[in-house]
Amino acid sequence: MRVLSIFVTVFTLVLVAPAAMGDDAISRLMHSTESLPQAPAAPRPAENVSAPSVGARPRGPLPIVMSARIGDHDDRTRLVLELSDPVNLRAFSLANPDRVVIDMPEVAWKLGAPPRPTGYGAIKSYRYGLFRNGNSRMVLDLNRPVTVSDTLVLPPSNGFGYRVVIDLFPTNRAKFDAGAGWPADLKKRESDAEKLAAMIAASQSPAGDAARRGARGKVIVIDPGHGGLDSGTAGVNGLLEKDLVLAEGLRLARVLKARGYSVHMTRDDDTFIPLRQRVAMSRADRADLLISLHADSNPDHEVTGLSIYTLSDGRSDREAAALAKRENQSDIIAGVDLSGDNNPVAPILIDLAQRDTINKSSRFATTALSSLKNVTDILARSPHRSASLAVLVAPDVPAVLIELGYLSNRKDAAQMNTESWRSGVARAIADAVDSQFAPPTRQALGNPE
Ligand SMILES: [Zn+2]
Repeated sequence: MRVLSIFVTVFTLVLVAPAAMGDDAISRLMHSTESLPQAPAAPRPAENVSAPSVGARPRGPLPIVMSARIGDHDDRTRLVLELSDPVNLRAFSLANPDRVVIDMPEVAWKLGAPPRPTGYGAIKSYRYGLFRNGNSRMVLDLNRPVTVSDTLVLPPSNGFGYRVVIDLFPTNRAKFDAGAGWPADLKKRESDAEKLAAMIAASQSPAGDAARRGARGKVIVIDPGHGGLDSGTAGVNGLLEKDLVLAEGLRLARVLKARGYSVHMTRDDDTFIPLRQRVAMSRADRADLLISLHADSNPDHEVTGLSIYTLSDGRSDREAAALAKRENQSDIIAGVDLSGDNNPVAPILIDLAQRDTINKSSRFATTALSSLKNVTDILARSPHRSASLAVLVAPDVPAVLIELGYLSNRKDAAQMNTESWRSGVARAIADAVDSQFAPPTRQALGNPE
């Protein structure tokens, strides 16, 4: 994945003049700093009891976010969102990298032309989308430490819908760091989800396990990368990594199921799943193999071909390390908390037991490459690489991450959009799964026939 989604803007050195002072209500909001409370001193506005809150998927049509504006002033950066319906939002900040996360109930995003930050204000770039069911999220990447005002919701007027105003005031590093961090209830929810996954793994009886494991007795977990507000990389033809890998993952699941495998997906829709949750899911499923699907991009648009990554103990070449940095960024992009000892991008320590898992992973990577070379281009130089990839760290689950091709290359991007390429690649991966788990043949057992 290339760093951010298509909506994220490039830092520009050209001075972008502020939008012309219009006479409409939103323009006035953008430019007035007197008529509004000087947050953060203002009291928190009362929660709108009739409006949906984070975690709720409102009955009926989703509230629509119709527009967003960013205004840079001497004393603050102001973000205004215009919505069709009132919603309860909450904003919090996370450090390293510095971000502001705005959580809201599930909404539909209809921003025609999302505004580009000037690069001079507090907002460097931003992205938005579904974080999990019932929870849409906007993440602002910051140029400097800020204090976040209380969110102010203004009722419709002058033909505009509900407007949410959030001000970002400059502050110092110490104050920002002191206030940054996940709200306690969100933190608890995340650790509860991990505990639950561990409990499920511990409680599975061997008998139930066998029944659950399907005809061939093997569980394959397919992990389409990215999702929701993390789009992954964007193709030269507009194809988004998150959509490509979901479609290919669902296709591979159908092929493997038809061959008798028990198949689980870490996501089967356009939802964001944190990296460590993907790992926890594969462990809870006692997976025999995790296949994580991605597509890469490269500033050199000539680079093409598929490559496969397995876990390294930190000794990876420069290109592999750069890829790991890109793919491990998923949680940062989506505003997942990385503080504490569960940091998935911390250096990975590999124990002896894990070596066996890594050997199995490498064997699969080799088989898969020889099967895939018949149906797609393979990266010219060392297509099997190892890197410290956070999604591959389960010590007991053999795992590979397949970069299906380069969305930055015109030919790769075009063929990844075709039925024939997609079904060919899904079959080739399934063939490699067959080879990995095929019982020893009579020949290999030395049958005298
Ligand atoms: Zn990716």
